[in-house]
This record gives sequence, structure tokens and C-alpha cells, in this order.
Amino acid sequence: MQFTVTILGAGSATPTLGRHPSAQLISYENENFLIDCGEGTQMRLLEYKIRPSRLKAIFISHLHGDHYFGLIALLSSLNLGGRTDDLHLFGPRGLDEILLLQFKYSQTPLHFAIHFTAVDTTQHTQVFDHPCFTVHTIPLQHRVPCAGYLFREKLHKRKLIKEKISDQMSYECLKKLKNAEHIYDESGAILYNFEEYTLPAPAPRSYAYCSDTRYYEQLAEYIKGVDLLYHEATFMEDLAQQAYERYHATAKDAARIARKAEVGRLLLGHFSSRYKEFSGFLQEAQSIFVATAIAEEGKTFAVQSTST
Ligand SMILES: [Zn+2]
Ligand SMILES: [Zn+2]
Repeated sequence: MQFTVTILGAGSATPTLGRHPSAQLISYENENFLIDCGEGTQMRLLEYKIRPSRLKAIFISHLHGDHYFGLIALLSSLNLGGRTDDLHLFGPRGLDEILLLQFKYSQTPLHFAIHFTAVDTTQHTQVFDHPCFTVHTIPLQHRVPCAGYLFREKLHKRKLIKEKISDQMSYECLKKLKNAEHIYDESGAILYNFEEYTLPAPAPRSYAYCSDTRYYEQLAEYIKGVDLLYHEATFMEDLAQQAYERYHATAKDAARIARKAEVGRLLLGHFSSRYKEFSGFLQEAQSIFVATAIAEEGKTFAVQSTST
């Protein structure tokens, strides 16, 4: 099953040539999900040849413009493009009012339904249930209500070993074997041992998106053991005080959270426009947590299981 994160934008609020505000595309098999939708996100989708029609849901972290100013544009284009499929939208309270006003005064009748859920940014709760994964909110500490999102894959069924399956085995029997149940004969003896006929299911994978937030220790508990963590790193150590005062994090803060949460891999993003390149972010973070990479725009990262 494909489970990837494509970085559409990893800049922060001040516009910078060649960088874009926050937006990420989660692809799970043939379905797409968006986390944040900074200005110009629809242009990034075009650039990377991603069909917005496959978008099933959009998750907005907070109502600072660099995280959602692209939303009205994207929704309007979906409407113009003839979308009729429902869309699920998650974000802090007020996002629906903003969108409704924009649609009202542009006299835009929508041809598809938007199901909006106002998320409680102070709680770690499930907001979305997909057949293959769940999405939970992650409370973050920012100047305005802000939630991260945790995508956690559900446990797959065991895999049948094709060569061992015979025509005599019914559909019900195969289903039980995949669910790790033995099949018994009339005398109660094991007829088919599920371990003989199936292989273990792959370990469920997980991805956490944490932007924007200042450093706070409890965050690590919500994202314990995730395979891939995106954490904002607006500043480097030279501006640690400023980071804290402005409710942002440094590269080292992100790395401390990654280490404390024992995540598999860390991605850094949401860089301040004052930094021209990112090697310093990497160095500072890697002095605490080695498995760190820069969330380069345009790059796709596979969410891979790191559990043993
Ligand atoms: Zn931001
Ligand atoms: Zn913000």
C-alpha cells in the first residue's frame, strides 16, 4: 500500500521567492489528502501533476494565513472543474464562517458538499476514520488555536500464502485464516494452522504533522513512536528566545521532541525567510537526533515502518 507525504510548501509566513507556505499531500493508495493549504497550493498540485479531483479530505492546522490562504482558491477551482464528490474539511472553529462569507459575496453556488468538522485543538482525539487509517488531532502550542494531525494506519489482515491455498478451502475459511484464526475439524483438532497458511501483516505505519508550535514536552506523548514526524523549525538556535516568544520552535526543539518521542525519522520545515539555506538546521537537529532530513519542497517521502 502506497503511503507517502509530498511537500508542497515548507516556508513560513513571509513570502520568499522560490519557497511556498505550508501544504503537504498525503497519498494513500489512489486517494489524496491535504494537510494545510497555503497560498498557491493549487499551483503546486498542477506543477507536480497531482489531480485535485482525487482529494478526499483537507486538514487545516490553524487560521494563520500561511496555512490556509490557498483554500478558497482550491475549493473554487474544484467547483469550476465540475466536482460533485463530497469533500471532508477539518480545521479550527471559524474556518467554515470564513469560507461561507467568501462564497456568499462571490455568489458561488457549490456543486459539491463540504462536510466541515471544527476540531478541538486542545484535545488529542480521533476526527477521521478511513477504512485503512485513522486521523487524530495533536494539540499544539501556538498564538492561536492550532492542531497537528496524526495519521495512523490500521492493522492489516495477514497475507495468504497463495501456493498453499487449495480449491477445497472456502471463502469463510480463508477469511478466518487472514484474521489469525485456526480452522478446526469436527473432532476439534487443528485442520489449518493460520501461521502455516498466512504471513504476518506488515506493521502499521504512522505519520505526524506538527506545525506551528513552540516546544512543549507533552507533545512527545501524543506522537510516541511514529514512523515519520514533520515538526516545524522556524528558527535556528541563534533565535531560540524569539522562537519561544513567537510560539515557534527551533531545529533543536524539533529534534528534542523527536528523540523524546522515539520517532523513526524527523522532517524539518516551516523555515523563516531570514535563512537562505538549511544546512545549519540539519546540523543543529542532527546533533540531537540523527535521522533528520529537510522537508524539501517537491520531494516525496515514503512513510515506512521503523518498528522491529
Ligand atoms: Zn505558519
Ligand atoms: Zn502560525
